[in-house]
Amino acid sequence: MSLNHLLQRADCAYTARFGGEPLWHAAAPGRVNLIGEHTDYNGGFVFPMAIERYTVIAAGPRAGGKKAAVWTDTFDEEAEFELARKEPPAEKVDWRSYVAGTIGCVLEKGLAADPFNAVIVSDVPLGGGLSSSASLEVGVATLLEAVSGTAIDPVEKALLCQKAEHEYAFMPCGIMDQFISAMAAEGHAMQLDCRSFERKNVPLSDPRIAVLVTNSNVKHTLSGSEYPQRRADCAKAAELLGVRLLRETAVPALEDSRAKFDALDDGERIYRRARHFLTEEERVARFAQALAAGDWQAAGEAMYEGHRSLKEDYEVTCPETDALVEIAERIGAGGGVYGSRMTGGGFGGCTVSLIEAGKAESIAEQIRTAYRKATGIEPAIFVTRAAAGARIL
Ligand code: ADP
Ligand code: MG
Repeated sequence: MSLNHLLQRADCAYTARFGGEPLWHAAAPGRVNLIGEHTDYNGGFVFPMAIERYTVIAAGPRAGGKKAAVWTDTFDEEAEFELARKEPPAEKVDWRSYVAGTIGCVLEKGLAADPFNAVIVSDVPLGGGLSSSASLEVGVATLLEAVSGTAIDPVEKALLCQKAEHEYAFMPCGIMDQFISAMAAEGHAMQLDCRSFERKNVPLSDPRIAVLVTNSNVKHTLSGSEYPQRRADCAKAAELLGVRLLRETAVPALEDSRAKFDALDDGERIYRRARHFLTEEERVARFAQALAAGDWQAAGEAMYEGHRSLKEDYEVTCPETDALVEIAERIGAGGGVYGSRMTGGGFGGCTVSLIEAGKAESIAEQIRTAYRKATGIEPAIFVTRAAAGARIL
């Protein structure tokens, strides 16, 4: 679905629900991370790009009160939100948490919005690792800019949205999702330093190249302790290496300290977690160079290696995402696939592949058939180019 189509849908929904025509429109994209996985909390680099999938919000003035009425197409539900004060977070997290949190955090910063009615439509898949949550938050924040007539500095906007996710969805996420949704440049991926917030837009606009996102359509909910466990392992590795963050060290130092790891019962595992991060830092650098040089093979190789590291050292892949990457690798450069890897937190979700744009349809068909045969599951596949970040339309 194109952005225009989403806008039309939003306008129709607005008129049907609230009457009249909406006055303000905001759009914020989802994202896919090309490389640099499980690196943010170690102060490392991530490499996301915005995808051509958006959360679109249409809104108009509302008579009386000091509230916003917001309806979402996704759940066909409407709720009211306070505009006069920051609402406390609800215990049970649902879609309202993201909206209430963003409104609360943005208004707390001093933005004043008059009452409004709004409808949300979106084609970012929910919970698929493409950050529908950040696109919702950044979409709401951007709408508030339109309604109040006050621009927020984009870095501050991203940080406010991250705060909303921390405080209202109780999700201790890094900065990647909100940064890329708020600040992506069209035709560019973003090399983002999660320690300094420094960012570089890296061109990814060669018309012969496209990015293919494949949703495995599985989400293995393990004990829920996997993510904190990985973070704890990395913190332990940093401690053993005498640094505050793994970012402050490198592979040779890790190898020199091998004995310190071997002395621990779970040292071998902690060593592998650190090795994933430190080699991933090297891969991100290599990937950036390869993109700049238009060396798609080298960029793709870094992606395959990244997947292997996430599988063997970090242990966050699953049979389904492994199958998708194997299938991509089998199609190979001859068939138009340069590289592929799981993207997002892991244990299911999506893979991202760098492909030859002209072969996208045939590649998608081959992946679909082979994945179905291997797992019995129907994947969801789409091709995207690097989209622009959030904007008022
Ligand atoms: P992801 O960000 O990877 O898609 P999350 O679990 O972080 O997954 O966020 C998904 C949640 O965000 C949904 O369960 C819902 O509460 C909220 N959300 C995202 N998009 C919308 C939308 N268009 N309408 C309502 N809620 C949404
Ligand atoms: Mg999310």
